[in-house]
Amino acid sequence: MSVASFARNILLAGCGSIAYKLWSSHSRTSAPLRRILAKHNTSTGPKFYNGLTNRKACAIMAQMRSGHCGLNSYLHRFGKADSPYCECGYGKEMVQHYLLECRKFKDQRASLRTTLGTGRMKMEWILGHPKAALATLEYIHRTGRLQQT
Ligand SMILES: [Zn+2]
Repeated sequence: MSVASFARNILLAGCGSIAYKLWSSHSRTSAPLRRILAKHNTSTGPKFYNGLTNRKACAIMAQMRSGHCGLNSYLHRFGKADSPYCECGYGKEMVQHYLLECRKFKDQRASLRTTLGTGRMKMEWILGHPKAALATLEYIHRTGRLQQT
């Protein structure tokens, strides 16, 4: 799927109750990210997810925000990856590493930075604000890292 059609899909349909179920199903997890997001007055729950506009986009954002996603640090806990570390060799492949640090995705991140502005390249922004989330989803799409989701 091209970036354009991916973005169009996001803009076309609504999340509604699916988003709420996704959010609720993760509400008892205690990923550190949730604490980060809670501290910064970010949008949460239906308010956040209704800003997104299709089921896939909602699912990806819920996974990123909860840490329950197809990255090695998570998969390794369940024996689904040989190592929790990233292929780039610079740390465990966790959500923050993937979005803000991984050297494999410098180009994609540069594009995200251009869209959001350098000051907003923070977890609370890229996963916490509905307007930034669209740019974050485009980053995720361009990296091709989470294709299976
Ligand atoms: Zn990496």
